[in-house]
Amino acid sequence: MRTPGEKRIFGPVPSRRLGLSLGIDVIPRKTCTFDCVYCECGETTDKTCERREFCAVRDVLDDLEAHLSRMKEKPDVITLSGSGEPTLYLPLGELIDGMKRLASLPVAVITNSSLLWMPEVRDALARADVVLPSLDAAEDDAFRRINRPHELVSLPRIIEGLERFLKDYRGTVLFEILLIKNYNTDTRNIDALKAVLGRMRADTIQLNTAVRPGTESEIEPLDDISMHRIRNLFGPRCEVIASARTSRTRHEETDLEETILSLLARRPCTAEDLHRALGMSMENAESILQKLVASGAVVGKSVRGTLYFSAPRRDT
Ligand code: SF4
Repeated sequence: MRTPGEKRIFGPVPSRRLGLSLGIDVIPRKTCTFDCVYCECGETTDKTCERREFCAVRDVLDDLEAHLSRMKEKPDVITLSGSGEPTLYLPLGELIDGMKRLASLPVAVITNSSLLWMPEVRDALARADVVLPSLDAAEDDAFRRINRPHELVSLPRIIEGLERFLKDYRGTVLFEILLIKNYNTDTRNIDALKAVLGRMRADTIQLNTAVRPGTESEIEPLDDISMHRIRNLFGPRCEVIASARTSRTRHEETDLEETILSLLARRPCTAEDLHRALGMSMENAESILQKLVASGAVVGKSVRGTLYFSAPRRDT
């Protein structure tokens, strides 16, 4: 549950894949069908396949309307994402329709693909302009090790659901595969992924690796050479995605510290991430971070020589 001050809307932030994205999070923290080893939001505390109306559609739309009215420029896209699996939201289709009517902006949904075997989830997702499904494994051992799914979620169900959904879906499809060394990078899994994705429509297949701290501390990102070797195996629609880089400075929030805390509660960021995400100078980002660390609101952690900052969530 959220406290009254808890924000459902965050950003806009530069998305690696979508441009400047206004994020909407309608799922309680770490309510998910998976418990991925690389999750930036911590361990899954409610592993479930039960779809629920965690908050009223009307309340989300009211928040969105108020947020947009404070922004001088619109973001490029509204993205349903956050610290849980968005397709667990029961009135997902109604929410997508409502956001499109309200904002006249494209709506994107980031999903782990786990519930696409449900016809009602496919119907809801079909209303989005962009769907970003992930599929980290097509071989059962790798799938269980890296995604640690709920018992009702199986790989054949995910693959069948994806195939059914993509057969009829007309929007943009940006697949993501997150590669973690020694979890899903063996030849068997890569060959299986190549075979499965070869049967599916996708505008791009984007390869990512864990650059931020995950649930398991021992996870290691895949090196650049291996990433590019796998990209070449997957063919021309596959790309390696780099850190978000944007020169745009569209931060419209009045309360910068609040915005930074809201961002850091969702995922660890470096000072440079904040500089890019919020259009603030590096000096300003570093000085606010120092202040927040000194007050105890934010903690810093060095991961392979890079300093990440995170803040505790302000929900229960
Ligand atoms: S990375 Fe996404 S799918 Fe995996 S546990 Fe975290 S929220 Fe769930």
